[in-house]
Amino acid sequence: MIPKEIMDLIPGPEPVLNTNERYIPVCEPDLRGNELKYVTDAVTSTWISSRGKYLDLFEQQFAKKVGAKYAIAVNSGTNALYLACAALDISAEDEVIMPTFTMIATPNSVSYLGGKPVLVDSDILWQMEGSQIEVKITKKTKAIMPVHIYGHPVNIDQIQSIAKKYNLYVIYDACEAHGAEYNNNPLGQYGDVACYSFYGNKILTTGEGGMVTTNNQELAGKIRNLKDMAFSKERHFWHKMLGYNFRMTNLAAAVGLAQTERFDELVNAHRVNAFNYEYELRSINGITTPLEANWAKNVYWMFGILIDEQKFGMSRDELRGFLADRGIETRTFFVPIHFQPYYYEQYKGERYPVAEQLCRDGMYLPSSSLLTHQEIERVCNTIKEAYEFSLSC
Ligand SMILES: *Cc1c(COP(=O)(O)O)cnc(C)c1O
Repeated sequence: MIPKEIMDLIPGPEPVLNTNERYIPVCEPDLRGNELKYVTDAVTSTWISSRGKYLDLFEQQFAKKVGAKYAIAVNSGTNALYLACAALDISAEDEVIMPTFTMIATPNSVSYLGGKPVLVDSDILWQMEGSQIEVKITKKTKAIMPVHIYGHPVNIDQIQSIAKKYNLYVIYDACEAHGAEYNNNPLGQYGDVACYSFYGNKILTTGEGGMVTTNNQELAGKIRNLKDMAFSKERHFWHKMLGYNFRMTNLAAAVGLAQTERFDELVNAHRVNAFNYEYELRSINGITTPLEANWAKNVYWMFGILIDEQKFGMSRDELRGFLADRGIETRTFFVPIHFQPYYYEQYKGERYPVAEQLCRDGMYLPSSSLLTHQEIERVCNTIKEAYEFSLSC
């Protein structure tokens, strides 16, 4: 049983969205390029399964965009992480250090293999607090799994130097960070592997899908083999390792290639959204907007804000209700791993104050690359209306 004091920090039921009005979804895919053309071509060619030219082209083009030598397409971001862990032989007894403030797929990828996610708190950038990593290292620690939350990169130098000092693997969860940069460098070149998601609400989408990238040729080969049942080269139906079927289809890759052609445009649209939101919202008392460190390119997958109930005059959940009544969809921030019912017993008694505050006060606003400037103004004007309404109460 999770005590009431903790349940009070966790968002309540979703507000009812008024869809009568010109409703603004929190996110929708942007498929205005060659997506339909390439999918039609794939169907016409009959290459609809897990081989075909779109898979090869998507992997090559995507690798180039994220600055990695090798890219292996898979069927989800979750399985990209799972596969990366399997390829690095993470198994029972191994510990993997990660932020508690992340999406559930991050710890699950380690748990599937019997390993133990070890948690750290977040910093002011909403990213894994680098200074807490060393304290959590034990003889069992095998890897660090940093997450570029909401599209802002983690402090790579700090993490890589700890990994080097303790001889740990680094698996970057870049599922929310297509196009993000660290000191003007794309993120694909750092660590042992980076994992991306192409779920419907991600910056690039294939419906469902994922990608593992690496600069390590041997590891790339192992990942490619493991994702395809670990078929061996010397004879067919001959398996020396426990393989998986995590293959992406050529149909999904056809969408992925079309999305990759518009990589810069899609990333830039998220940044433009963020600058417009920032401009409109910065003057409102009680709202914290996301930061961008001077070494970072934040791609603002989702534009998150924190609501200080005292200063704003309304709680985060009240503001979400106010917006939902007016046809504006939002989402709460992630619920930290140590508060998840599945994981609660495993971390009982551990507290992470920054992550808990993000969970209580955080929400993200509509963030699709299809949003217009007028829609962003409408969202911001509605937030201003809520603020003035709370002042008048
Ligand atoms: C979306 C996401 C995933 C999982 O990706 P799926 O493609 O939905 O399986 C993993 N980690 C983070 C941080 C994510 O945001």
